[in-house]
Amino acid sequence: MSTGRCLCGDIRFETRATPAWIAYCHCASCRRHTASPVACFVNVPLSSVEFSAERARYVSSPGVTRSHCARCGTPIGYETAKRPDEIDLYVNVFDHPEEFAPGSHGFEAERLPWFDTADRLPRAADGGPAVSPPSRLGGFIIDCRTADLWSAARFWSEALRLPLAELPGAEGQSYVRLESRDLHIEVQRVEHPSRVHLDIEADDVEAEAQRLEALGAARVAAVHDWIVMQAPDGQRFCVVPRASA
Ligand SMILES: [Zn+2]
Ligand SMILES: [Zn+2]
Repeated sequence: MSTGRCLCGDIRFETRATPAWIAYCHCASCRRHTASPVACFVNVPLSSVEFSAERARYVSSPGVTRSHCARCGTPIGYETAKRPDEIDLYVNVFDHPEEFAPGSHGFEAERLPWFDTADRLPRAADGGPAVSPPSRLGGFIIDCRTADLWSAARFWSEALRLPLAELPGAEGQSYVRLESRDLHIEVQRVEHPSRVHLDIEADDVEAEAQRLEALGAARVAAVHDWIVMQAPDGQRFCVVPRASA
């Protein structure tokens, strides 16, 4: 069971439901209602929620009712005539919002340009279903021509203020991971001159390679399950399968 309350405690609620979805909303109305750069909703059946007191209501657009505490003003939820059996509760009215990690972004098109979250969740331009782009920048590989991978890795760890993570098995012989919240960064021991190359991760590596060829890139080599490519300017980069994480 999950419980929650407004700031003053006049309105308390509990629900036994498991949320159908948890999502950010970047729309301007949610931002106004919460006075916050982004709102986050936990969707549960309306019938699963028991409130201790009446909520104040405001019809913000035809069919849409937003509720809040009349005394302290805490925003409580969002209800729409399009989904009359559901309520989207603002994540922060829960006593344990840490239990509800968002799974997607809505109204990405209205996101404030100076605000973003460090995640790789699928995004929808509007209120529709959120989808992941078929490819995106996956991260950077720092190619180091060195006999001592770990001393190179320690330099980059200190330089970038990112902790080191040893990789298991054969991968660990050539790569050291730098722990970063939002980008995949690895230090790699190579035979060619040192440089940095970037990885584009894709759901369909072959289709992505063909898209990039159409943009003027050339295939250099196929290694394991990734494709090494060269941009028209000569930069090398790799197309790799999307990380499962
Ligand atoms: Zn209150
Ligand atoms: Zn919204």
